[in-house]
Amino acid sequence: MSEDSVVPQIDVMNGLKTVLANIEKAVARRSKDLPQVMPRLVAVSKIKPASLVIEAYEAGQRHFGENYVNELAEKSSDPQLLEKCKDIKWHFIGHLQNNKVNKLIGSPGLYMVETIHSEKIAENLNKQWIKYRKGDEKLKVMVQVNTSGEEAKSGTEPENATNLVEYVLKNCPGLDFQGLMTIGIYDFDTSQGPNPDFITLAKCRQEVCEKLNLDINNVELSMGMSTDYEHAIELGATTVRVGSVIFGARPPKAN
Ligand SMILES: *Cc1c(COP(=O)(O)O)cnc(C)c1O
Repeated sequence: MSEDSVVPQIDVMNGLKTVLANIEKAVARRSKDLPQVMPRLVAVSKIKPASLVIEAYEAGQRHFGENYVNELAEKSSDPQLLEKCKDIKWHFIGHLQNNKVNKLIGSPGLYMVETIHSEKIAENLNKQWIKYRKGDEKLKVMVQVNTSGEEAKSGTEPENATNLVEYVLKNCPGLDFQGLMTIGIYDFDTSQGPNPDFITLAKCRQEVCEKLNLDINNVELSMGMSTDYEHAIELGATTVRVGSVIFGARPPKAN
């Protein structure tokens, strides 16, 4: 028996089914004071080949996430994928740099940029999108908040979230503000209580909605990954970004 035959085959369809079932169960446990929005699953396909994206698409999945611009641009332009996944919706969930904005917005099927972290990047994305777009269509965006205060993580400080959202609303007519996103610390032990990153993001939303007079039902919370998406939903996530439990583990460090 060769070494390879021991590696389990990834069953994307089964992984998706399990995650979707768990999402429904978590929704039932969510506090009734929270907006009762059915969470959207974003299947994170980074490092994984276009063929697995097509497989997930054919099993019914529509929203996918990538966190490197080059990889998104390449995968979204794969000829097979373009032919078979006409209704695909890509979410950009990685750190966005000014020099990558044009490449990002040229990616076919780009649906949302979840990682607006500064006024400068918002301004640049807005400007380039208006130049690029055909018609009046706005680009959906979320504001990324660095809820854990870790230097390695991108995002605006929680105290600045309202200001940045206000900037997008007032100064970026090409962008359509959809909500707040966080990554947070990895592998928080929930036996210690609710994940503080998720609590902080929900508090940010409260403040943003109060100060800017927005309807909380229309402002998303993107939080939760493979290890904690159910917990995130209980605390109000409306978008969860799940990779490895659908597509299989990635090599360590390569995230
Ligand atoms: C990789 C990644 C995910 C998914 O992580 P998994 O642990 O594989 O579910 C979610 N969000 C972001 C921003 C990521 O980079």
